[in-house]
Amino acid sequence: MRRGPRSGLNTIVAVHSTVRGPSLGGCRMWTYDDNRAAIRDALRLSEGMTYKSAVAGLPLGGGKGVIVVKPDEPLDARRRRAALLDFGETVERLGGSYVTAEDVGTSTRDMTVIAKATSHVSGLSRRVGGSGDPSPFTALGVVAAIEATVERAFDTPSLKGRTAAVVGLGHVGLRVAKLLARGGAKLVVADIDPTKKAEAEKLGARWTTPAKAMTAAVDVLVPCALGGVLDHDSVPRLQAPAVAGAANNQLASSDVADLLREHGVLWAPDFVANAGGIVNIAVELDRGGYDPDRATTRTVEIGDTLRRVFDDAAAAGTTPLTAAMALAESRLARG
Ligand code: NAD
Repeated sequence: MRRGPRSGLNTIVAVHSTVRGPSLGGCRMWTYDDNRAAIRDALRLSEGMTYKSAVAGLPLGGGKGVIVVKPDEPLDARRRRAALLDFGETVERLGGSYVTAEDVGTSTRDMTVIAKATSHVSGLSRRVGGSGDPSPFTALGVVAAIEATVERAFDTPSLKGRTAAVVGLGHVGLRVAKLLARGGAKLVVADIDPTKKAEAEKLGARWTTPAKAMTAAVDVLVPCALGGVLDHDSVPRLQAPAVAGAANNQLASSDVADLLREHGVLWAPDFVANAGGIVNIAVELDRGGYDPDRATTRTVEIGDTLRRVFDDAAAAGTTPLTAAMALAESRLARG
């Protein structure tokens, strides 16, 4: 943790693992009650990144950055820019063991500012040779994960005629919904933001409340909003036999993976399904530079990773969560 000389704000970098390569994870600009809470968040999120990259087979470790915004001091544009430069300097001091990217509270444009203070930054805009907005790739990977999950649950990966409930029509969810509709799926969609209803109409989807979408009688539930939506209260009420979506940390606690299995619900571990964004960024760090075709090919491979996770889980009689963690750990052990 380092106090930024320009902004006076604390900047934090957590490096969880560099076993497979430089630790990579987004920079979160967020308000926390105190520095302890911010550090805890950075540590927890950096560990998640280690597993996400390892299970995707990427040559990257896990890290995370945080710029701690004070609750009582809203940032004007000047101080915000100062904080980004301060953060870039903190990253630079780590000599490449951490590479930053965008996250909650930061954008592709912010990465260009951070790049003035460090070369260890990814997710730069396409105009300057970067990988740009990760959301389209996250969405593509989620759809590959949905196909693999549907294939396991219904013996065919085809989305034609399948029903799906997409909860959260944001950067990722709306794209997922469009791709599913294009594949012939019938959609139920929901968002807390009523302005998204117009998008539902364009897709020919049925608009409903988030609570109803979560328990809709569909073939696959696609959580694309916040984490913690699968818990001891919601899982017994699920009607979909398959769940695969973009939202991070979908399980309120890891024992919910057992509960899903007991209820006959096939769950695609979120950190496998939503790795498309990080896969895209990894391509930016390739020696040959960024190539969208290579990024697309590698993102679609998320479907194969998930098939392997389901196979491993079936063979070992465990949950997909346990199998995905074991796959990541074996890759970390091999370095
Ligand atoms: P976003 O903020 O663009 O979209 C989230 C959407 O969910 C918004 O439209 C919001 O109104 C809606 N929402 C919020 N609370 C809701 C609720 N309770 N019920 C229904 N809708 C609700 O975010 P995003 O970039 O689309 O990311 C969505 C999820 O995917 C997040 O959990 C994120 O961490 C995860 N994720 C995103 C990426 C990426 O590339 N953007 C990568 C990996 C994981």
